Amino acid sequence: MSSQVYEKDYIHKIVVIGDATVGKTSLIKKYTAGSFNQEYIKTIGAQFSRYQKVLGENQEIRVRLLFWDIAGQDDFDFMRPKFYHGARGAIIVFDLTRDETLQNVMNWYNDLRRHVGVIPTILFGNKNDLIQTFEDSKIETTIQMDKFYKFYKTSAKTGEHVHEAFDTIIQHLVELEIERSEEKNPTKISPKKI
Ligand code: GDP
Ligand code: MG
Repeated sequence: MSSQVYEKDYIHKIVVIGDATVGKTSLIKKYTAGSFNQEYIKTIGAQFSRYQKVLGENQEIRVRLLFWDIAGQDDFDFMRPKFYHGARGAIIVFDLTRDETLQNVMNWYNDLRRHVGVIPTILFGNKNDLIQTFEDSKIETTIQMDKFYKFYKTSAKTGEHVHEAFDTIIQHLVELEIERSEEKNPTKISPKKI
């Protein structure tokens, strides 16, 4: 088997947070495995899923992703620091059919910020296949939209916008990483040419 050598190789941890049953586990599953379960399986503590993406014109960039997904909110407290540790990006999910999950978005944002500072964060309004129970204007008045890189209405059931939304944050993290490495290693000028 030939082993591809990548010019750039990144590993990113992305945390997926939001109230219970908004669809965090289902979204990750839809993105990483393409499947959906109607049956609700409560995540215990936390779990993570691995995923790999190859990007670039010549497939020269590899991004390995670890999606961390919290669980049963009751037993989450004790593992909060470990859960957030090292996260490079975040996804906050609320449920378009449940107003209270929208009300909690900024609490989740503040929790994230307390533990890891400001990191690229994207917002998902999930269950878009069902009937939304509040006006769009309520989303904008409840949430400080400028804290989020992008906002998508998703459905883990139909897959609507799921790939687009996950790909957007991954692409953004890679661009930031490339910018950072260019700042660290500005193109060297050969002394002979001066
Ligand atoms: P979590 O607690 O945030 O991880 O939520 P889950 O992913 O376990 O989902 C909770 C329940 O909502 C399950 O019964 C899922 O099948 C259902 N669910 C998740 N996403 C969607 C969606 O986009 N549309 C619909 N109709 N149901 C969903
Ligand atoms: Mg879950």
